Amino acid sequence: MQDKLNQLKKLIGRAVDMERAASVLEWDQETYMPPGGGEARADQIATLRSAFHEIFASDEAGRLLDELEKEAAGLDYDSDEASLIRVLRREHERRVRVPLELAEELARTASLAQQVWQKARANNDFKSFEPLLAKTVELKHRWAECFKPYENIYDPLLDYYEPGITYRQIDAVFSALKPPLVKLVKDITARLDVVDDTLLSQPFGAEGQMAFGREVITALGYDFERGRIDFSAHPFTIHFGRDDVRITTRIVEGIGSSALMSTVHEAGHAMYEQGTSPTLYRTWLDQGASMSVHESQSRFYENIIGRSRPFWRYWYPRLQAIFPNQLGQVDMETFYRALNRVQPSLIRVEADEVTYGLHVILRFELENDLMNGRVSVSDLPKEWNARMEAYLGVVPPNDAQGVLQDVHWSVGYIGYFPDYLLGSIFSVQLWEQMLKERPSVPAEIEAGQYGAILDWLREKIHRHGMKFTLPELSERITGGPLRWEPYMNYLQTKYGEIYGL
Ligand code: ZN
Repeated sequence: MQDKLNQLKKLIGRAVDMERAASVLEWDQETYMPPGGGEARADQIATLRSAFHEIFASDEAGRLLDELEKEAAGLDYDSDEASLIRVLRREHERRVRVPLELAEELARTASLAQQVWQKARANNDFKSFEPLLAKTVELKHRWAECFKPYENIYDPLLDYYEPGITYRQIDAVFSALKPPLVKLVKDITARLDVVDDTLLSQPFGAEGQMAFGREVITALGYDFERGRIDFSAHPFTIHFGRDDVRITTRIVEGIGSSALMSTVHEAGHAMYEQGTSPTLYRTWLDQGASMSVHESQSRFYENIIGRSRPFWRYWYPRLQAIFPNQLGQVDMETFYRALNRVQPSLIRVEADEVTYGLHVILRFELENDLMNGRVSVSDLPKEWNARMEAYLGVVPPNDAQGVLQDVHWSVGYIGYFPDYLLGSIFSVQLWEQMLKERPSVPAEIEAGQYGAILDWLREKIHRHGMKFTLPELSERITGGPLRWEPYMNYLQTKYGEIYGL
């Protein structure tokens, strides 16, 4: 058995090297590559990625997995070996079940649809995008059917981004969360003028923002010996194995909080990658479990820690010292409230902590209705606007600021949106559990001490890499499934206090 395991590891190790090399090229493309390099770079990345894909989908990988599965029955579920076989089986199936011609048609449609979507959004012309979106939905139907049996045709799409999760599980959480969340937004909307955030629109210099961001994430535990930070158009985290995990940030001069909060967010992703167990090196399991679990880490640091009073009691004097002209006369409480201002708005990516979830629930519901034929593509704009009004009390004046705002559907990412909210929900569940096990955490945050927090996350989540799914991690860490109540309590307590509800 050890022999076959070694063969499998050697095979996958080569694929992992190619994927990580492609990632280095991608990082360079987003940070330092001159514009002329674009075309050749696209070819280079495509070559490495297709070699990676071929190995994962290969007969050799399939044969080794077949043989190993027969012998693996006695292995401990939690062991690296059993996890390797289990996760690589899933990754192999994903690549072999979909016929090549369908995969190619999806890729072709996605690249065409993305271009058409860009124009459609710029021209506020949903009709021009409609035929390609309808085709994408039809192709996604065929794609999902490759993964029968399932209870809901939306399930394989959800599972692709968040392994182990089903429509029924997510719906149980989102449907319960929606009514109290809609009510909280309504209550806050009636008192919007209680919080003023104009102080954040002053000019904050890029250098000071970067210096402060570096100081904060170093304190949080991001390891610069195994990482670095650069500028890019859109902030992201990228890893080439646990010992080289890089982040980028974007400085928007007018918005004092955007660079800092996005740097803390990306550092949350990066510390997760830096914390995977060295024993998983080069196995493909040496990375975050999934999109939701990743977001639970980034949002934990950005929102639960980075937008909290204890955090700013420690850091605000430092920020004032860097920006004396902008903040010298502003007290911490005013700054804290500005940083947490709520404003129902049209655009998901600009949404605050409270309203964000409703943007996601709306997309989750529409995707499910679309896949099950209850809403047609041509009805989407109307359905979108009606739900925006019902959930957030705002109606898009046009489709560009409504149904056309996100790139996801154009590139075939149906089933991806729920993960953004699942991550936030899980982050609060983790926080609740952490407080139970370590009540001193808020005092530690106020003292600028984050070592125990990172150790806890390392022990419970980071070191496992891709071994466990979100539902499994939730069971292991909190003793039960994903729960919406801690998240809603957190929002009600924090924002009820800020808005005097
Ligand atoms: Zn993120």
